[in-house]
Amino acid sequence: MRAVDIISKKRDGQSLSDEEIAWFIDAYTHDTLPDYQAAAFLMAVYLRGMEPAEIAALTLAMAHSGEILDLSDIVDYAVDKHSSGGVGDKTSLVVLPLVASCGVPVAKMSGRGLGFSGGTLDKLDAIPGFTSDLPEARFRALAKESGLVLAGQTKALAPADGKLYALRDVTATVASLPLIASSIMSKKLAAGANGIVLDVKVGSGAFMTQLEEATTLAHMMVNIGVRAGRDMVALISDMNQPLGHAVGNALEVKEALETLNSSGTEDLRLHSLEVSAHMLRLAGRGERWTNLTETKAYLEQQLDGGEALKKFRQMIIGQGGDVRAVDDPSLLPSAAIVEVIKAERTAYITQVDAYKIAMAAFELGAGREKKTDSIDLAVGVVTHVKVGDRVEAGAPLVTIHANDAAKMPACRTLINQALVYSDTPVDALPLFYDTIYGD
Ligand code: URA
Repeated sequence: MRAVDIISKKRDGQSLSDEEIAWFIDAYTHDTLPDYQAAAFLMAVYLRGMEPAEIAALTLAMAHSGEILDLSDIVDYAVDKHSSGGVGDKTSLVVLPLVASCGVPVAKMSGRGLGFSGGTLDKLDAIPGFTSDLPEARFRALAKESGLVLAGQTKALAPADGKLYALRDVTATVASLPLIASSIMSKKLAAGANGIVLDVKVGSGAFMTQLEEATTLAHMMVNIGVRAGRDMVALISDMNQPLGHAVGNALEVKEALETLNSSGTEDLRLHSLEVSAHMLRLAGRGERWTNLTETKAYLEQQLDGGEALKKFRQMIIGQGGDVRAVDDPSLLPSAAIVEVIKAERTAYITQVDAYKIAMAAFELGAGREKKTDSIDLAVGVVTHVKVGDRVEAGAPLVTIHANDAAKMPACRTLINQALVYSDTPVDALPLFYDTIYGD
């Protein structure tokens, strides 16, 4: 086969065969095909799109470009979740121990944050001593012993995606639905899950800002998973305002702990229950947890009975973290400057723009621009209001947690842009827009 023939076929809008796609990805992974040809291929896909069968073939080729994690000797059924990335999304910190507390083992590989979007591993770094850098043997041992482990994704998993993603970044080909869907799903398939719950965010603080686009992406990913023999479900959830209240790593751990202690914010609790119920439904394989309402009631019992917190503590201890910080969050990193922004007048909140809030936290050092940047785990922004709330003049709207006074003005400006008031009542935003089942 010749790369130029495959590129020209896609350039002309024709469908590629499984063999052509597998050959191209294999050659690129093994450096026998240069970046300029891969770049041309990506642009052709960006402009011409791909058929569902091509997207599935591309995903499988990328998944098989490295190791495929086989968890079958540890768990009967591996269930995973994936969020497409959002602001204040600490759902994994609640969901994973909650699901594990129901006797469903969770051995998950997670990522770090980039740009305005946070990552679960960065949040967990806020717990002193905790490590997500685990050798495979330790990862497996923890999954077997405690039924819950959360580690960083190894470079051996879907290396083709790593190479292609870096190339997409510099060739203006990131925003292509087939490329996004195959990129995300290749890593999920390589991580060995039998069942996957996708949490596809839509809104100002998400990768996808339009519901139609998010829905198309969700269908694509569900379709890829089903073709690969996995059990799939995708939830489309709101990301126009932050999830929960806290945005910033240690602040988000603190909020997740509140939820694990049954005292957290309502939206994070409800969101976590929904995602967890879908994970249990997949793990139940049509025999258990088939009724979502009953499953959520059971999960609430687990949460309120402290079972999920117990699992979380077990995970922290197993991965070297200081468990005292779980019981006493004042031991988490904290910022030197705390400033409260208050409502100027009595009004209804019509907007708490997730992107602007994320950028406000980013200004303080909570996120990274490049993969190699370091982040300040203590800083961030805590919002006290949700869209639809009525606030009295002088009520707290946002608390800024900063370590550098020089960064405060830009942060304040972004917060002021994020918040919009109205004199007339407005509806609250929904948590979810849709559920797309793979069965
Ligand atoms: N996340 C990924 O892993 N890949 C993409 O292409 C976009 C988001």
